[in-house]
Amino acid sequence: MNQNQIRNFCIIAHIDHGKSTLADRLLELTNTVPKRQMRDQILDQMDLERERGITIKAQAVRMSYKAKDGKDYILNLIDTPGHVDFSYEVSRSLAACEGALLVVDAVQGVEAQTVANASLAIENGLTVIPVINKIDLANAAPQQVSKEIKELIGKQKSEPLLASAKTGKGATEVLEAIVNQIPAPSGKSESYLRALIFDSVYDSYRGVIVFIRVVDGRISKGDKVKFMASGQISEVEELGFFSPSMVKADSLAAGEVGYVIAGIKDMANVKVGDTLVNALNPAKQALSGYQEPKPMVFAGLYTLDGGEYPELREALAKLKLNDPSLSYAPETSPALGFGFRCGFLGLLHMEIVKERLEREYDLELVATAPNVAYRVKKKDGSQQEICNPSEFPPANQIESIKEPYIKASILAPPEYLGAIVDLCQQHRGQLIEVQYLSEKRVQINYHLPLSEIVIDFYDQLKSKTRGYATLDYEFLDYQVADLVKLEILVAGKPIDAFSSIVPRNLAFEKGKTVLEKLRQAVPKQMFEIALQAAIGGRIIARETIRAKRKDVLSKCYGGDVTRKRKLLEKQKLGKKRMKKVGRVSIPQEAFLSVLKSGKTS
Ligand code: GDP
Ligand code: MG
Repeated sequence: MNQNQIRNFCIIAHIDHGKSTLADRLLELTNTVPKRQMRDQILDQMDLERERGITIKAQAVRMSYKAKDGKDYILNLIDTPGHVDFSYEVSRSLAACEGALLVVDAVQGVEAQTVANASLAIENGLTVIPVINKIDLANAAPQQVSKEIKELIGKQKSEPLLASAKTGKGATEVLEAIVNQIPAPSGKSESYLRALIFDSVYDSYRGVIVFIRVVDGRISKGDKVKFMASGQISEVEELGFFSPSMVKADSLAAGEVGYVIAGIKDMANVKVGDTLVNALNPAKQALSGYQEPKPMVFAGLYTLDGGEYPELREALAKLKLNDPSLSYAPETSPALGFGFRCGFLGLLHMEIVKERLEREYDLELVATAPNVAYRVKKKDGSQQEICNPSEFPPANQIESIKEPYIKASILAPPEYLGAIVDLCQQHRGQLIEVQYLSEKRVQINYHLPLSEIVIDFYDQLKSKTRGYATLDYEFLDYQVADLVKLEILVAGKPIDAFSSIVPRNLAFEKGKTVLEKLRQAVPKQMFEIALQAAIGGRIIARETIRAKRKDVLSKCYGGDVTRKRKLLEKQKLGKKRMKKVGRVSIPQEAFLSVLKSGKTS
């Protein structure tokens, strides 16, 4: 294939602005997917993606297109997720492309991830082609949106394209723009092989399948290749491209995107961002790869059935291959048993990881309340980074605590400005600037402690702005804060899984809320149980679960027989899962009810 007739591009947009639907139209127009096999958002292959209607994994697919200039082109499309937690996926796809379609909804206009993704693309030196989508909608306002886009990316050579991914209008113009505006890949096909690994998956029959963008040189079947970072040397058994299913080929040359299977069974040897070179004629210089993703939110993951710990370990190793932004390390909890402390890029990421582990690996998991990483300076001068509240040093050893702050950018119609400012103020935010993108859209920038937004900030923001506000954030720095470790004691024993780090002035309130939830969730026993909240050994709040009287009435609890049987069945299961803490049994449900609601605000 002539390198001048290759275009590598991705589609970036705020969630729901129509990336995947536009991809569908492009696949159809180029006959990549026959019409009868077409289904909506065909590139969202994971069940989870289809159910939630969001794209989690980036996808790569090759299309052939005969352009109006009469030449045949190969267009490699990489579809990417739009949610804030998955911007790591976005940056990976960007590094494999020369251009990006920036899709903006003609009704919603520019939103938080539009801004974030557009600046990522521009920073990466990509050619950005703005596309205003959904112009079929009655209330589409393309002129307004066009103004917002210009405000965002500055004057472009061309006006934004107008399209409807639903009806297909404008899709041909999009293909022509890709051919005419995006530069061909610049790599040297005569040079030593260098291929960027931008993704990988594990297949139980074939081993690791590596997704590559060939930057320089050529890779062929039978070649001996080397993974620079791990030193692993393997023979290429099969390679090819996605169309969108895997299609075998003899070789891939500079500029091309595809997959490689090299009989690798050990997942540890493949690292996303690594450079693949020829083992006999190795290139000296690795490609610049990716920045290591930095986990921002941490939580413990435990199996409901403690015996499944080895399965969880195996599942995490496999999932990490497909999702390198996940990090994990073993930990034990007296209350929950053996598990892993996992690091995530954000809350949605955590939710998705947990759900994927449960579905794809058939596990039942408990997640502890998410928290951020704290930097603790001790009086003896040593520093510690702590991502599990139960590992906090005793209060009297602590000199100071720093917590991570983020730069949040919120976009919304101006009438919600007041509500947004209130909300951020309540969450210890510091207003940085307010900027009008147009009469209809204002951008509000705040500095906020990350811990304030990891629980339910996003939901509150959505409900206070009737769903109109969108949020994007990036890490800012660590700042000193007056924080304390809040401990929860049941019958005098601290329960590590319930420990949390909270601002000192809110400790009482937060402690009270946890105790109240616990009081409702822990069943009465034959004796009285004290529930206490403490800071550094000092009790600040208390609740009591009264002793149970011999209760004959409970036997005649109303409802029909099937319901009773169901309850009994459930109780039987529940007993198995009872976690003994001293003399008191805390049912799994009680853990869940406290942990799930997270930081209890
Ligand atoms: P993504 O999150 O950016 O991948 O967005 P999707 O492609 O999943 O689209 C989000 C929703 O918008 C879906 O319900 C689509 O059917 C709908 N949609 C996408 N493009 C258009 C369009 O041009 N017109 C209309 N009316 N709806 C569209
Ligand atoms: Mg999508």
